[in-house]
Amino acid sequence: MAQNAPLILRLLASSVTAANRAGKIIRDIMTRGDLGIVDKGINDLQTEADRSAQRCIVASLCQQYPDLTIIGEEETNNHEVPSDWIVTDYDKLVLTKECPQEYENIKKEDIVVWVDPLDGTSEYTQGLLEHVTVLVGLAVKGRPIAGVIHQPYYNYKSGNILGRTIWGLVGVGVGGFDPQNAPSDKFIATTTRSHSDGTVQKALEALNPDEIIRVGGAGNKVLLLIEGKAHAYVFASKGCKKWDTCAPEAVLLATGGQLTDMHGSLYYYGKDVACPNVGGVFATTRGINHEVLLSKIPQEVKDKLK
Ligand code: AMP
Ligand code: MG
Ligand code: MG
Repeated sequence: MAQNAPLILRLLASSVTAANRAGKIIRDIMTRGDLGIVDKGINDLQTEADRSAQRCIVASLCQQYPDLTIIGEEETNNHEVPSDWIVTDYDKLVLTKECPQEYENIKKEDIVVWVDPLDGTSEYTQGLLEHVTVLVGLAVKGRPIAGVIHQPYYNYKSGNILGRTIWGLVGVGVGGFDPQNAPSDKFIATTTRSHSDGTVQKALEALNPDEIIRVGGAGNKVLLLIEGKAHAYVFASKGCKKWDTCAPEAVLLATGGQLTDMHGSLYYYGKDVACPNVGGVFATTRGINHEVLLSKIPQEVKDKLK
């Protein structure tokens, strides 16, 4: 019966189970303690967990969907994976959802899967484990319509059920938790904790928030928006890539929020697009006037992000 479900629902259901498996790999590597850190550039780390989690997700999806275009953050030259890293079951809840009519007949050629196997690597290496997410975004004809944000360490301090997975499909909504509205009596912005600079600061100052939450990860910050803990995610820097924003944008859109660059333009996630989000990231939770907030960003900030 599951095989009769529309491709996008099946792929989202498979992405949920693959992200969960990748999260377990990330925890296991941390428990073993040898992180195998490699420097990819300035302030840009990769660990064995990033590499292994990506191999798990890519191998799992490739086995079920041959010839699917998958773009992952990490360059991994070893395509052999342990057999228990390959998961081919579906998330049951996703498959119960009714697919919006416009997505019923999507072809494989129109889909690009953007994978950030471990978002928040700096925080992972520093033991700030609650910042870490696994991101799988599904773009159709260049726009994000479905995504998975898995938090492998959710609840790890409280001892309750470890980890959680939030998924979203535009036109359907989100699964894994209930979106909340942000407080109406103050304005809270969230931004990077490890990749800030003068331009990032200028953008924040112009918005004059009552509170700034500095945390790691694009997935983690978008979760703050949909949990009602922040109103805007502001990152006036070229450092984020398409794999950082595809899944979070899809989940945010599914809840009625928005994500653009600092000029207000949408990002495209087609297979030939350049990976860096050179216009920065500006995302708002539902109920916020995105354009009005964006109009407060000074021109000198925008000029730095061309
Ligand atoms: P952050 O908010 O700093 O945690 O960044 C969100 C995502 O964008 C993470 O995956 C970062 O690794 C990535 N990122 C942001 N700025 C940079 C940068 N300057 N160099 C490399 N990666 C970056
Ligand atoms: Mg990332
Ligand atoms: Mg990453």
